[in-house]
Amino acid sequence: MTKPQVNKPSLNQIAADPSCMDDYDPNTMFVAQARQFIAQFLQPVTQTETVSVRMSLGRVLAANIVSPCNVPAHNNSAMDGFAFRFEDADKSLKIVGTAFAGRPFNGKIHADECIKIMTGGVIPSGADSVEMQEHVTLNSENITLNQQVKLGQHVRLAGEDLAENQTVLTLGNKMKPADLGLIASLGIGEVQVYRALKVASFSTGDELVSVGKPLETGQIYDSNRYTLFGMLSRLNVQISDLGNVADDPKLLEKTLLEAAQKNDVVITSGGVSVGEADYMKALLAKHGQVLFWKINMKPGRPLAYGKVGDSHYFGLPGNPVSAMVTFYQFVREALLTLQGATPKPLPIFMVECTEPIKKATGRTEFQRGVLFEENGIWKVKPLPNQGSGVLSSMSMANCFIVLDETVGSCKAGAMVNVQLLEGII
Ligand code: AMP
Ligand code: MG
Repeated sequence: MTKPQVNKPSLNQIAADPSCMDDYDPNTMFVAQARQFIAQFLQPVTQTETVSVRMSLGRVLAANIVSPCNVPAHNNSAMDGFAFRFEDADKSLKIVGTAFAGRPFNGKIHADECIKIMTGGVIPSGADSVEMQEHVTLNSENITLNQQVKLGQHVRLAGEDLAENQTVLTLGNKMKPADLGLIASLGIGEVQVYRALKVASFSTGDELVSVGKPLETGQIYDSNRYTLFGMLSRLNVQISDLGNVADDPKLLEKTLLEAAQKNDVVITSGGVSVGEADYMKALLAKHGQVLFWKINMKPGRPLAYGKVGDSHYFGLPGNPVSAMVTFYQFVREALLTLQGATPKPLPIFMVECTEPIKKATGRTEFQRGVLFEENGIWKVKPLPNQGSGVLSSMSMANCFIVLDETVGSCKAGAMVNVQLLEGII
C-alpha cells in the first residue's frame, strides 16, 4: 500500500482542518474515494511467526513458497492399465510385471514387453505410454491393444503440477484449503506467516443490553457485537470483544484508550452519526486523529476513520445493516491490507433484477438481494424491507445489489450488479 507522500497533508492536519485538502468534503465522500483515502494510511504488520500448515489456514504468507521438488516426483500412470513402449503398440506384448501406486516395478521395459500398472504407479524405465485395461485384449501372459494409441497417452509427467524451484505461493497469499494441501504435497510442514492482526471491538449506546439479561422498555439487545464477531472471525484476526459500553464519557474513554493501546485496530459501532450524544466524537478529537464522513451511500452513511495512538480506528454506524455494509465495503479491505495480504477486487456479476427498484442517482446503494435460479438462469430479487435497522434482510440475503452513483431507478427486468456475500465454505 502507498504511504502518505511528503507533500500530502497528514491525517492529523486533515482532522484538524479538512479544507487543507483539495477535493475533500467530509459531507460528500464517495465510496471509492473513502476506500482510497483509508488505504494510504495502512501499514501492514511486519512481524512474522512460523506455524504448522494446518494453523496457517486464513493467515497471510510472509515468504514465498518455492518447490523443493517436482510434483509429481516421477512420471506415473493416470489410469489402471498397461505401460509399454509406443513403438511396440501394434505388437503382442508380454506382461513382465506389475507396478502399484507406491510399489514400482524396478525393471526395465524392453521391446515387445509391458507391465500391468495401477493409477499413480511409476512408469518404468523404457515405457512411455499407457493403455487403459478396458481397451486391451488379454491372452494369458500377453496383451494386444484394441485401438490406436498416442505417444505418452495416460502418462502424468514429473513436475506437471509443480516444477522444482517454481514459486508455488507468493508472499501476501491468504491461505486457502487448497494451499494447505499444495504445501503438504511438497512435503513442507511449517510456513512463515505474518503475526495475527489484533482487533478490538465494542458497541456503544445506553440502550444496549447484552444477551442473557432482560430488556426494559426502550432497550435493545446488542446485535452488532455478534455480527462483528462473525465478520472478524472470517478474516482470521485476533479478536478482543469488549462488549457494549454505555454512552458514558469516562467509560468510553477508558475502553477506547485501553483498546487502542493493546490492539492494531479498534472498531466501534454507534455514536458516529450527527446530532447524538457526541461523546465518541469529542473523545476521538481529544485522543486521536479521526475523520468523520458522510459517505454517499445507503445504508451506512456515517463512518469515522483515523488513528488513536498507533491503532487504526473505524467508527461504524449503529444501525445493524449499516454496520455490516460499512464493514464489508471499507473495513474488510483495510484489515486484509493490514494483515499483509493484497486485497483483490471482489467479483461483481450482472444479472436480471426481477423487481423494480426506486433509487436516486448521486449515491451508491447496497441493497440486500436473493440470487435464485429460474429455468437455468440466475436472477436477483431485492428483499422487500431495505431498512438500515432490518437485520433479517442481511440474514436472508445472499448478495448485495450494488447500484452505483450513476444508476437511478430500475425497471423490473433491468440488469444490475451483484456482489456475493459468501464464498464456498
Ligand atoms: P447510532 O449510530 O448510535 O445513532 O445508532 C443508530 C441505531 O442503531 C439506533 O437505533 C441504535 O439503537 C441502533 N444500534 C446502535 N448500536 C447497536 C447495536 N450494537 N446493536 C443493535 N442496534 C444498535
Ligand atoms: Mg447510539
